[in-house]
Amino acid sequence: MNVEDRLGRPMRDLRISVTDRCNFRCVYCMPKRVFGKDFQFLERRELFSFEELERVVRVTHALGIEKVRLTGGEPLVRRNLERLVGMLSTIPGLDLTLTTNGSLLRQKARALADAGLKRVTVSLDSLDDAVFKAMNDVDFPVAKVLDGIDAAAEAGLAPIKINMVVKRGLNDQSIVPMARHFRGTGHVLRFIEYMDVGHTNGWRMDDVVSAREIIERIDRELPLEPADPNYRGEVAKRWRYRDGGGEVGVIASVTQAFCRDCTRLRLSAEGQLYTCLFATEGHDLRALVRGGASDAEIAQFLSSLWGRRSDRYSELRSEATVRLQKIEMSYIGG
Ligand code: SAM
Repeated sequence: MNVEDRLGRPMRDLRISVTDRCNFRCVYCMPKRVFGKDFQFLERRELFSFEELERVVRVTHALGIEKVRLTGGEPLVRRNLERLVGMLSTIPGLDLTLTTNGSLLRQKARALADAGLKRVTVSLDSLDDAVFKAMNDVDFPVAKVLDGIDAAAEAGLAPIKINMVVKRGLNDQSIVPMARHFRGTGHVLRFIEYMDVGHTNGWRMDDVVSAREIIERIDRELPLEPADPNYRGEVAKRWRYRDGGGEVGVIASVTQAFCRDCTRLRLSAEGQLYTCLFATEGHDLRALVRGGASDAEIAQFLSSLWGRRSDRYSELRSEATVRLQKIEMSYIGG
């Protein structure tokens, strides 16, 4: 069965935040002044269990979900995540992937691959230790993330995508060095425009380095040409090195919004559903699941929610929307 929203968009991708906790305090995502020692994270019993998650994934898969991304918070800080991967990887035809900061990949990559994970996306914002540490704000060195990426490659979790969020004045000097470093490795580096997710990161339009500027800066030193999308609605625009050194991608969520192709549903760690990354309120799936609803009732809830969907926040972004009390990315999942 396939469901479409009010703008004719099918439900295809499910992003699951498996925990709201993270071992980094990236200044643009979980700033310490908000997510400090006193911050009240979710209690264990509030989190959807692996069994509950598997059930939800099976129901959504029957409604048209083809791809599931495990995220967070930092998904690898959720204990025994490989057990969930093992449960989800048995669902036929489901494309399963994971986004991580890479800090625990050296310990976890093999177990994840053995459990059936095929590929990963690793976030890395700079190769310069001083810049990276200023961004993650927990003194975490670049070398350990690079080692995590190597561990993922050794475990066969390929292709590896590397995500770099670019914030002007913070890490924009790292754009070209990152491109140079990952060129020719087979890993696909993708640059993400800094977004106004949540309401704690103090976002300003001036902080955004546009996808166009990012490509211009790389092209000046490492000539690029546009490449065709891999599939309709691909979020990242692809660019190829003219000398055959591979490709980079840019995710222009601010300057070239792609809401009309957005097929993503998001599930927070405590079982709230969101139909937009920039949503201000969720829909309580956990109450339904824990209240004894049947699979058919859950499916009905999901298709009716999706059928009412008309979100297109990024296309409507303005000074007024930026000030909305949007849900934090660490909670809803990136
Ligand atoms: N902890 C994992 C990680 O670091 O990849 C998964 C969760 S994290 C919220 C997912 C992605 O969102 C990361 O690549 C992160 O850099 C990105 N992100 C967080 N805040 C962002 C913002 N304000 N604008 C753009 N990307 C952001």
